[in-house]
Amino acid sequence: MVFNGIHALVTGGGSGIGLAIASALAAEGATVTITGRRLDVLQKAAEADTGRLDPVQMDVTDEAQTVDAIAGAVDRHGPVKICVANAGIAEGRSLAKTDMEFWRRIMATNLDGAMVTIRESLKSMRQADWGRVIAVSSIAGVRGLKGAPAYTASKHGMIGLVRGLSEDFLGSPITFNAICPGYVDTDIVTRNVTSISERAGISADAARDIMISANRHNRLIAPQEVARAALWLCHPEAASVNGQCIEISGGQT
Ligand code: NDP
Repeated sequence: MVFNGIHALVTGGGSGIGLAIASALAAEGATVTITGRRLDVLQKAAEADTGRLDPVQMDVTDEAQTVDAIAGAVDRHGPVKICVANAGIAEGRSLAKTDMEFWRRIMATNLDGAMVTIRESLKSMRQADWGRVIAVSSIAGVRGLKGAPAYTASKHGMIGLVRGLSEDFLGSPITFNAICPGYVDTDIVTRNVTSISERAGISADAARDIMISANRHNRLIAPQEVARAALWLCHPEAASVNGQCIEISGGQT
């Protein structure tokens, strides 16, 4: 139980990749605060797991709510030593169709939300003098994703954030890294299958095949595969891995 007694925070921890990471950390002894907007989804996830997941309603686009929720979690479980900024939305729109409302919604969730979550978690990591920060970016954080300039920019921004912080905290026992998955079998892919098939006028199966073949090893990635990488980055033995972006994409780049 590598993470016995450690309090971890996983945003968007009620589903998909976030839940897989939260469950993997809990299985190794961590107490994990899982957050999201839908409390019922979080509660269901917590009930189905090890009893070490604490569901907390928190919208990362609401700065005050995020500050309060993380402070409350620290009061209940002690300093956050592992922070996984995973909450995100993925929607594709051409630049011509990108109005400020859409642009800000993507940025507010994926980038601003990660910044506030990490900033607040860092308060307790600095006190504890140990920490692991992981941003769940995307393959769209390392290369352009066709038809999704706002999402691509937000995911590039998350990598910039952890790289910048890894410089600021150089020499401290706190590390900052990003994980960049290709297409993972979660609700996001299911929703994208629907929107791609509608936009391109192709069947849902054909849309799903486009995503599967983009992964190069010709299958969707399981959320648990992403969780293994997160677990490794959190391990005390990964102390020398800092400011990196770990791609889990079946070799997309
Ligand atoms: P999910 O839709 O299952 O997970 C997204 C999570 O983020 C949900 O639990 C959702 O909870 C939460 N979330 C969304 N908006 C907010 C918000 N404003 N405040 C708080 N929580 C929020 O899909 P995934 O597991 O696939 O996505 C997780 C991350 O992985 C995302 O950042 C995504 O961009 C990234 N990713 C996913 C890939 C894939 O192919 N699946 C590929 C590359 C990256 P709720 O709705 O209850 O708020």
